[in-house]
Amino acid sequence: MPDVPDDRFGGGAGSADPTADTPAQLRAVIEATPDALVVIDGDGRVRLVNREAERLFGHPRARLLTMSANDLLPERLRLPAGRRWRANPTRRRLGEADGLAALRSDGAEVPIEIAVSELELDGDADGGGELVLAAVRDLTSRIAARTRAESELRRSMLDSIPFSVLATDRDGLIVAANPGAEALLGRAAATLVGRSITEVHDPAGADAADASALLAARAGCERETGYVRADGAVVPVSEGVSELRNQDGSLRGYLAVAHDITARLQAQAAVHRMTTHDPMTNLPNRTLLEQYLAQSVAEAVANGRTGVVLLLDLDHFKNVNDSLGHHVGDLVLAEVAERLRRWADDEDLVARFGGDEFVIVINDARVMPSVESNLFDQLTMAMTVHGHDLATSVSIGGALFPRHGTDAAELIQHADTAMYAAKSAGRNQLQWFEHGMRVQTNERMSLASALRQALREEELSVAYQPQVELDTGVTIGFEALARWESRTLGTVGPERFIPVAEDTGMIVDLGAWVLERACEDIARIQAELGRPLRLGVNVSPRQFRSRGWVDTVLSTLERTGLQPSQLELEITEGVLMDERWQVIDTLRALRDRGVSIAIDDFGLGYSSLAYLTRFPIDKLKIDRAFVRELEPDEGRAPIIDAIVVMAHALGMRVVAEGVEKPEQATYLRNRGCDEAQGFLYSAAVEPQHALRAAGGA
Ligand code: C2E
Ligand code: CA
Ligand code: CA
Repeated sequence: MPDVPDDRFGGGAGSADPTADTPAQLRAVIEATPDALVVIDGDGRVRLVNREAERLFGHPRARLLTMSANDLLPERLRLPAGRRWRANPTRRRLGEADGLAALRSDGAEVPIEIAVSELELDGDADGGGELVLAAVRDLTSRIAARTRAESELRRSMLDSIPFSVLATDRDGLIVAANPGAEALLGRAAATLVGRSITEVHDPAGADAADASALLAARAGCERETGYVRADGAVVPVSEGVSELRNQDGSLRGYLAVAHDITARLQAQAAVHRMTTHDPMTNLPNRTLLEQYLAQSVAEAVANGRTGVVLLLDLDHFKNVNDSLGHHVGDLVLAEVAERLRRWADDEDLVARFGGDEFVIVINDARVMPSVESNLFDQLTMAMTVHGHDLATSVSIGGALFPRHGTDAAELIQHADTAMYAAKSAGRNQLQWFEHGMRVQTNERMSLASALRQALREEELSVAYQPQVELDTGVTIGFEALARWESRTLGTVGPERFIPVAEDTGMIVDLGAWVLERACEDIARIQAELGRPLRLGVNVSPRQFRSRGWVDTVLSTLERTGLQPSQLELEITEGVLMDERWQVIDTLRALRDRGVSIAIDDFGLGYSSLAYLTRFPIDKLKIDRAFVRELEPDEGRAPIIDAIVVMAHALGMRVVAEGVEKPEQATYLRNRGCDEAQGFLYSAAVEPQHALRAAGGA
């Protein structure tokens, strides 16, 4: 633009220079403005620039004044030829806009923001007056500062997030690692860089051999895997892999972001444990048992092996719970669980089935003969719980698989059936399942209703077993034992129907009926015999606790004419240990009237002799389990000796039950045992035969 000479800005005489008359002060302001100022005319010709414009565009002022606006802009921003330059009213203020740039003398683009306005000059010599003032601000340093801040932020985020971040190249070689990765892997970033990421991954979880294939396969998804720490330990992690791409879209590498999921897995395991284990004994529960058993059965079938399911039920456990409280019951169960755990092989599974029932799965039946007695030894060993000396015993039912079934639930059912058979056969033993047993179990269900009917229709009767004084051999009394001859079920033993009566509460009526009938029978028999007899009557816990029971006993005696001193009530230790009831008061009330109290089945229960001294008791009946094993050389004999000595020291008499052999009687007599009862003398007989059994006519 030769017609716009350089010197005119300096205040020359050119008529076209709008600033020709600008006072020096104003000129100085323009020069000092920190933005680049460029005045152009409607054709885009540069008419005025300041010092900052020279710096920004990289052209000396003289050159700039020969240029047009298009020369100062990158191609994409230029105004097409023929169009006139105008000030866009929306661009009056400075403000960043995408892609705005100035073209520098060296060809580089300089990011700028720009404000434009129309210049209205009075006395415009040009007459056109289409001058546009552009204020241009160089954004280079602002953008640089911002980029620096952003990358610092990014860096500090990478440094502080609790994730491991590993960046790799396309081949999976680590190029960067953040502090999270250092902490997780226990290695310095410097030692990680250059290694293949496959060295970090747990080889067990690797699904591809080489790193790049592995990363390519995992890219875009999150998965659980393991990272190998410097010390060799494998940390479970959740890892997400994403691709890093260059500007042009080509693959640059991968970013693997992972976090430690140990705590989560532990929580999951704890939840799993809670759903598969019994919290009180810490044994597997029914759920896990059924899963395990199903698997054991499948393996047994596959290997042609035989396995065993044992169902254990503690004997008389209800007594413990009822009398000592549930917390003691819980402690007993925990102790039993501990003993079972100790007894069991690693291969076996011991589970708590519920209540006082445990199930053991033994995968090889061949071990049974050698482990069975050991199992009973473990479980019948005395235990001291909460200051109570207790002795447990168990009834066990066994079923074999696959012989008795291949379904877990069915096998457990069979073992349960066999367990009931063990209970009926006298407890503290193991019975194997037989198919005939099922009928009995089903029958148990209807037993209660049949018994209710039996009470109404008088199907019950009382039998009498003689009790003999050992010194003289004389029958001094009888124990009354209930009998049931059912029209539909045949003979049902008291071991079966007494527990049902107890559970249903019928025992109160049944017991009262037995007492009444027995008192009548004995009164008649002793009249015929010509000398008084003693009558032993069994009293079950529920009956003992029932309201008005003492009165029932006393009024029955009165009505039948039997002396209270002739009546001996047989109660079990469980009755004594019931702390909720005024046991001692009840016993005293009876004893004050002359009735005597005997402890039945002594030795099998849960109490110690010392414990018994707290109660007014006249007699101990040593359970037949001790008498049965009474071989003179056997280790069990001293127990009887101890009972006799201590009972006598405490002023109690001792009766031995279940005496079947003369040697047993001899032994007992020699040891000072007072009385005996058992098949050696007589089984329980019908009342019409009692007289003869007592040595009468
Ligand atoms: P228990 O009170 O221990 O009665 C003794 C049991 O041992 C009786 O069985 C008796 O027949 C049996 N027995 C007696 N001598 C011998 C012997 O030398 N060898 C063997 N192996 N057994 C012998 P039973 O009559 O079957 O009674 C079983 C249980 O039923 C009784 O045990 C008692 O706990 C309960 N029971 C019987 N009648 C009544 C009753 O009227 N009321 C209550 N509450 N329970 C009763
Ligand atoms: Ca008895
Ligand atoms: Ca007994």
